[in-house]
Amino acid sequence: MGRTVICPGSFDPVTRGHLDIIDRATKMFDHVIVAVLCNLSKKPTFTIEERIDFITRAVQSAEIKNVEVVGFEGLLADYARERNATALVKGLRAVSDFEYEFQMALTNKKLNPELETVFLTTNQQYMFLSSSIVKQIASLGGDISGFVPECIHDDICKRLTNK
Ligand code: ADP
Repeated sequence: MGRTVICPGSFDPVTRGHLDIIDRATKMFDHVIVAVLCNLSKKPTFTIEERIDFITRAVQSAEIKNVEVVGFEGLLADYARERNATALVKGLRAVSDFEYEFQMALTNKKLNPELETVFLTTNQQYMFLSSSIVKQIASLGGDISGFVPECIHDDICKRLTNK
């Protein structure tokens, strides 16, 4: 059977930083579910279908194995129980991520005491990288090729600059 973990996020769109965390999670656990959040309070730029498609292509292109990409609505603590997941795996960038992630981890522990939250330290190279930075740069015509997986780069640029 092996151990299943969940990497949750908005992935709006997926970046090289996200992909690095997903890749590293597959090396530590047997099955990684990337849960793409549908119920975002802020309106996402990319649709749930686009976000799932980008991650699926990026994972395939990087030949990362044992990953399942799903759209997700509801409580992660319940979903983790349903899928028999051992832990949530999250990337931790700078101090700014810490307070929110700490609060979420404690809340999820309260809702599902069997569920752990595992934090992987960001790859130094991607420490400054976020989906919103990518969107800002691309919409101003800047070069985002170092920030997003190559196979989805053109699609992201097209969507962000054509309108
Ligand atoms: P963002 O903050 O870019 O909108 P998400 O909400 O999609 O990201 O985040 C999903 C997960 O990925 C979170 O655990 C977040 O900390 C992590 N993450 C996002 N960007 C990076 C990065 N550059 N390096 C490491 N982890 C990251």
